[in-house]
Amino acid sequence: MSGASVKVAVRVRPFNSRETSKESKCIIQMQGNSTSIINPKNPKEAPKSFSFDYSYWSHTSPEDPCFASQNRVYNDIGKEMLLHAFEGYNVCIFAYGQTGAGKSYTMMGKQEESQAGIIPQLCEELFEKINDNCNEEMSYSVEVSYMEIYCERVRDLLNPKNKGHLRVREHPLLGPYVEDLSKLAVTSYTDIADLMDAGNKARTVAATNMNETSSRSHAVFTIVFTQKKHDTETNLSTEKVSKISLVDLAGSERADSTGAKGTRLKSKKKKKTDFIPYRDSVLTWLLRENLGGNSRTAMVAALSPADINYDETLSTLRYADRAK
Ligand code: ADP
Repeated sequence: MSGASVKVAVRVRPFNSRETSKESKCIIQMQGNSTSIINPKNPKEAPKSFSFDYSYWSHTSPEDPCFASQNRVYNDIGKEMLLHAFEGYNVCIFAYGQTGAGKSYTMMGKQEESQAGIIPQLCEELFEKINDNCNEEMSYSVEVSYMEIYCERVRDLLNPKNKGHLRVREHPLLGPYVEDLSKLAVTSYTDIADLMDAGNKARTVAATNMNETSSRSHAVFTIVFTQKKHDTETNLSTEKVSKISLVDLAGSERADSTGAKGTRLKSKKKKKTDFIPYRDSVLTWLLRENLGGNSRTAMVAALSPADINYDETLSTLRYADRAK
């Protein structure tokens, strides 16, 4: 499979209060699928332009056709990945970008304000489809897990009492897995929503100078989706199992701009077919089967609009450009 199977979107968020109070200027322009960035240190320099599968804009009113609402992002990206899961592929959607750029908003969103992100919308549609298609021939099962990877250690967000770190192991047939990670069977969207809430509460957030709720951990929400087909004539059953990985990556920023210590999280790519979102070995290892071979991947790179974040935003755009 070619590397072109990675769908890449970039999304610029509205100004935050810090940027507004510094009277920051907007340095991002979008037209159709292309995104340009102006160098605020040298405004005469030609803007750098990139093109992606989707360029999502937020600096207009929600009535503007260019405005990318949570529904639009889900309809473009989440829906397609869910269809691939029904076809039997493993799928992965991940959000990349600087802390505070909008990764969690894109993945989780704000349910209480009817701004649900990709994960809750996908889970809701998953159960709608299951209920529509379930009959005496077809049956479905769904299991979820939710973990956090911080400094190469895995923590179970659905069993926060388990304070220890879990071991990552390799099964000879099924590939990499996390030993003792809770995998809970769910039968409705409400079941999943409750687990998501509990997991989000349990998630460790490490404050940095950029944003109090910023996070230096990766959050990986996994849905194992099994479709069972029972042939009533022959009495034979076949099974299709798809893993849906929904990943909110740690902030991509350099240590110097946020005060965050630790290694700069760089991407590296060996060959077109071998897309690796992060150098962290645990994450890369666990997502191995989601990023090559029998899989479909989408990424949303989250951007700040503000001149003060130029360096990070440019580096995010370059990263997204390489992922295509
Ligand atoms: P990250 O996960 O990258 O650290 P967040 O998703 O927490 O960033 O976003 C930071 C803040 O910006 C949050 O208050 C969030 O609600 C807001 N935000 C991010 N993206 C958008 C958007 N597209 N529209 C409206 N608000 C947004």
